[in-house]
Amino acid sequence: MEKGNITFHHGKVNCCERYKILGQKGLVVWLTGLSASGKSTIAAETERRLIDLGRAVYRLDGDNIRFGLNSDLGFSEKDRFENIRRVAEVCALFKDAGLIVIASFISPLSSMRQMAREKAGDNFLEVYVKASVEVCAERDPKGLYERAFKGEIKDFTGVSAPYEEPEKPDIILDTEKYSQDKCVERLTREILGKSALKTVKA
Ligand code: ADP
Repeated sequence: MEKGNITFHHGKVNCCERYKILGQKGLVVWLTGLSASGKSTIAAETERRLIDLGRAVYRLDGDNIRFGLNSDLGFSEKDRFENIRRVAEVCALFKDAGLIVIASFISPLSSMRQMAREKAGDNFLEVYVKASVEVCAERDPKGLYERAFKGEIKDFTGVSAPYEEPEKPDIILDTEKYSQDKCVERLTREILGKSALKTVKA
């Protein structure tokens, strides 16, 4: 691969060797859904359980990333795309390093989620954390919906900016129907299956 005077340098190690050392396959778990649908809560608890089970996990959270790597970005469509582009690159690198990456980002457009999937390659789970605007606005843990309805926050997803529901997510966690515990249990199970290194018996 070349770009101008830059040439991609392949090292002497591939990701499978790293996977073997860690005893797991790298995986990107991409949580999408409205603000207050439950992404961060589910991600944090799932990370806790997987670490307790001895898995190598790292969590990337929308709000947290905007304090550092993406502190220069706002919420226009252009900035939202750049936000997701950078995060998707980071996810792909962490996956290559052998980690289970749990990324929770509203990622409102299907093209954004598609970009994340393409960058991650084979081992990617799109998880739709599902709750309606009405329920999210009722929960409103950060008071954001109240402010968005008053027009104090512009481009707020689900209120004044679009959210495209995933058409074919790998997993749907309906947080209106199922308890937090049930959602975490299901997600943990799916991740353990998808990140398992299949050993071939001699
Ligand atoms: P997001 O990261 O999607 O913005 P948060 O996780 O910050 O959402 O907030 C979701 C809120 O909804 C929390 O206060 C959480 O306790 C609550 N909640 C209610 N039911 C559920 C559920 N089944 N799963 C996850 N969170 C839930």
